[in-house]
Amino acid sequence: LVQLYIPLNFMGMLYREIKQALIDIDDMFKIIDRNPEIEDKPHAKPLHISEGVVRFEDVHFSYIPERPILKGVSFEVPAGHTVAIVGPSGAGKSTISRLLFRFYEPASGRILIDGQNIADVQQGTLRKAIGMVPQDTVLFNDTIGYNVQYGRWDAAAEDVREAARLAQIDRFISNLPEGYDTSVGERGLKLSGGEKQRVAIARTILKGPPILVLDEATSALDSFTEKEIQDALDRVSQGRTTLVIAHRLSTIVGADEIIVLDHGSIAERGTHAGLLASGGLYAAMWNRQREADEAREALKRAEEEE
Ligand code: ADP
Ligand code: MG
Repeated sequence: LVQLYIPLNFMGMLYREIKQALIDIDDMFKIIDRNPEIEDKPHAKPLHISEGVVRFEDVHFSYIPERPILKGVSFEVPAGHTVAIVGPSGAGKSTISRLLFRFYEPASGRILIDGQNIADVQQGTLRKAIGMVPQDTVLFNDTIGYNVQYGRWDAAAEDVREAARLAQIDRFISNLPEGYDTSVGERGLKLSGGEKQRVAIARTILKGPPILVLDEATSALDSFTEKEIQDALDRVSQGRTTLVIAHRLSTIVGADEIIVLDHGSIAERGTHAGLLASGGLYAAMWNRQREADEAREALKRAEEEE
């Protein structure tokens, strides 16, 4: 039995090692995928933020030549305002945020921040000016504290905790065996999608950037946590130029402008009230979500009555 046990156990170990290695490679590709070789131009200047105006001018983009993803997208986010982008999955919403962060370059058209083409500025200064809560956060293989502190290296410990508190993750971290020193990632604690999102939100709150990009930032959260974090996000976006890609339309009702993206083109734009009144794609999406919410509510009530 002992003889049989050892090889089996060894095989199990080997299997776990290989599986872990594959997970690591998978995550590595996820990161590399977003950071292709885009280099600063020889005389790239630092980005100078005066007001924080973001402008897309007739932007065309494709990941692979034969398949256009953005087909002439133009919009402006005035300083301190909030513009929301909504639309079906695959429409190109996240692509817009990746282009703004310059993970990719437009095939044609320009992206300007305070009048400066982001293709001409130093990437480091561009990324410092933008706080991004992505759709799926990949955490660093380090402590959870490091992952929040990454937002601003010179932040004091109490500011780190305050950011975590606003993102509703401080209590969770404090209850971990090693608190903020607990390792996360492949070789440490596994966090749920919602917990990772809250870490990313804490990091962004700590960073306090002039420009904010929220890509379905609350999509992995249950509706109670979502409400709490939405309040925190609303507070951070006060006075900052904010581009929000929304999954739940109820979170963007107050946006200064809502852009409906469909198959890489802007199909509709306006305020919530205006778009509802025009009875197009947005109104249909809104009604569909409301009906789904009502059905869910009715189901919950029926369950409670049982
Ligand atoms: P959305 O955020 O609106 O759901 P995305 O901007 O993520 O959509 O993607 C738009 C389209 O581009 C999708 O059809 C998607 O499959 C495709 N796409 C996204 N990333 C890549 C990539 N790295 N390589 C090739 N195609 C991609
Ligand atoms: Mg997306």
